[in-house]
Amino acid sequence: MLVLGDQLDAESAAFDGFDAAHDALWMAEVASESTHVWSSKPRIALFLAAMRHFREAQRALGRRVHYVTLEDAANTQTLAGELARAVAELRPARLVMVEAGDWRVAEALEAQAAALGLPLEVRGDRHFLCTREEFRAHARGRKQLRMEFFYREMRRRHGFLLDADGAPEGGAWNFDEENRGSFGKAGPPPHAPPVAFPPDAITREVLALVDARFAGHPGDLAAFDWPVTPPEAQRALEDFVTHRLPRFGLFQDAMWHDEPWLFHSRLSAAMNLKLLDPRVVLHATERAFRQGRVPLAAAEGFIRQILGWREYVRGIYWHFMPRYLELNAMAAAEALPAWYWTGDCEMACLRDAIGQTLRLGYAHHIQRLMVTGLYALVLGVHPRRVHEWYLAVYVDAVEWVELPNTLGMSQYGDGGVMASKPYVATGKYIQRMSDHCTRCRFDPAKATGDDACPFTTLYWDYLMRHEGTLAGNQRMALQVRNLGRLGPAERAAISQRATAIRAAGGAPPRALTLL
Ligand code: FAD
Ligand code: SF4
Repeated sequence: MLVLGDQLDAESAAFDGFDAAHDALWMAEVASESTHVWSSKPRIALFLAAMRHFREAQRALGRRVHYVTLEDAANTQTLAGELARAVAELRPARLVMVEAGDWRVAEALEAQAAALGLPLEVRGDRHFLCTREEFRAHARGRKQLRMEFFYREMRRRHGFLLDADGAPEGGAWNFDEENRGSFGKAGPPPHAPPVAFPPDAITREVLALVDARFAGHPGDLAAFDWPVTPPEAQRALEDFVTHRLPRFGLFQDAMWHDEPWLFHSRLSAAMNLKLLDPRVVLHATERAFRQGRVPLAAAEGFIRQILGWREYVRGIYWHFMPRYLELNAMAAAEALPAWYWTGDCEMACLRDAIGQTLRLGYAHHIQRLMVTGLYALVLGVHPRRVHEWYLAVYVDAVEWVELPNTLGMSQYGDGGVMASKPYVATGKYIQRMSDHCTRCRFDPAKATGDDACPFTTLYWDYLMRHEGTLAGNQRMALQVRNLGRLGPAERAAISQRATAIRAAGGAPPRALTLL
């Protein structure tokens, strides 16, 4: 029975009918999974630490686990290679696994099983509330897919936040209007940091291994404190529901310097590795609302992320792969700026978001969408390069969830499948939602001049470059109309500055200091 690094669920369908007397688990740590994109140290460490804890838990149950470590001298360092080696040694009659979370891995394992002449039974992933077939049925016959309709269907089907008549609790499906708060000048209200999980002996061993073996990879491990077992993930959930969920909705879009967690759950990695069942998360949220501990807008906003967005992006991924990976609707062709891998740039918002990403393997949704994602979009970076960065740097990155969010939602590379319009804005959006601009040498109101905010320059440049395409999109009408107000001289100056930014590696040339 094959267990991949993001399938650490002892209740998964792969275990149905598992007979400890005859069956064995197979797990392999392989370097190629950390190098096919330049994975950050926190991401590699989290996967390996969680896998090793799962191995121990299974062995404690008396199950045979054939586990290949990264350091094993005979390790071929690919999943297909390790499967072939294990089959030669263990001579199984058949292989069983749950659907992989990554099209590339599924293809490789299926091809290898076929080459080895072994039947491979791939079972549905019960972790998700919507099967791939159910999503296909939802998509069938629709001209356009929209998360909101999918989400309402899921609410009805699974009975979350409904009143006695089956209508949405509070009379509406969506309370987004109440969920767009910023912190104003005062900053975030007092809040405790999330519960931390200091590395135990197994994790410490992994951290040392990753530091040594992947020394040149981005990110660092000093702050590693992610939950790596189901009981830890459960504690993380309880901590979130008690301390941060009540204000999750109101502040879910807000940012503040040096405040990576704010009121977010930081549960994505635990769920994506399958240490935590989304149903448990959804029920805990609804329960907190019914007990009057959490306002409806916060509970609904959070449930929408998990029952709506999370399930929806998985549906999109499997519906459109493998061609989705190749999409580039806006013909973007720039390289990713080298400083995305270091955070060494003058833009305060980007420095903060990239810095914490490398330090922690984490940034919240608006940092990913409206800071790092927005900048790559308006700069015109090729979506494949952006995808490779996101897949590498976040601890929760698995392709089924990362790719539609990056290529689709944030880069509009799918031309409107994930989002009905590109998420483009000037630096004023970041100014409204954070304190970054007060700590930055650039001015978000300016599009030209030495102190012009690069987001603002590139926003107008993006609209000019794509005016023809965007003019046909109703939802962009206002933005395109505003573009019409720019005179030829202003347009030329914006273009010139945008070209200079690109020529200088994706950021305005730094001011020279004369000694
Ligand atoms: P919270 O803000 O507390 O949200 C709660 C949960 O809702 C998350 O844990 C997550 O499971 C789910 N969720 C929220 N938004 C989304 C979404 N858009 N898609 C899927 N699930 C969602 N999420 C990943 O899990 N892995 C990724 O690799 C990933 N890459 C992203 C790349 C980009 C460019 C963008 C814009 C978003 C990406 N997301 C990804 C979605 C989202 O940003 C993260 O799930 C979230 O920031 C994780 O932090 P949290 O657990 O504190 O989330
Ligand atoms: Fe970011 Fe522009 Fe604000 Fe600087 S001025 S923090 S670059 S949005």
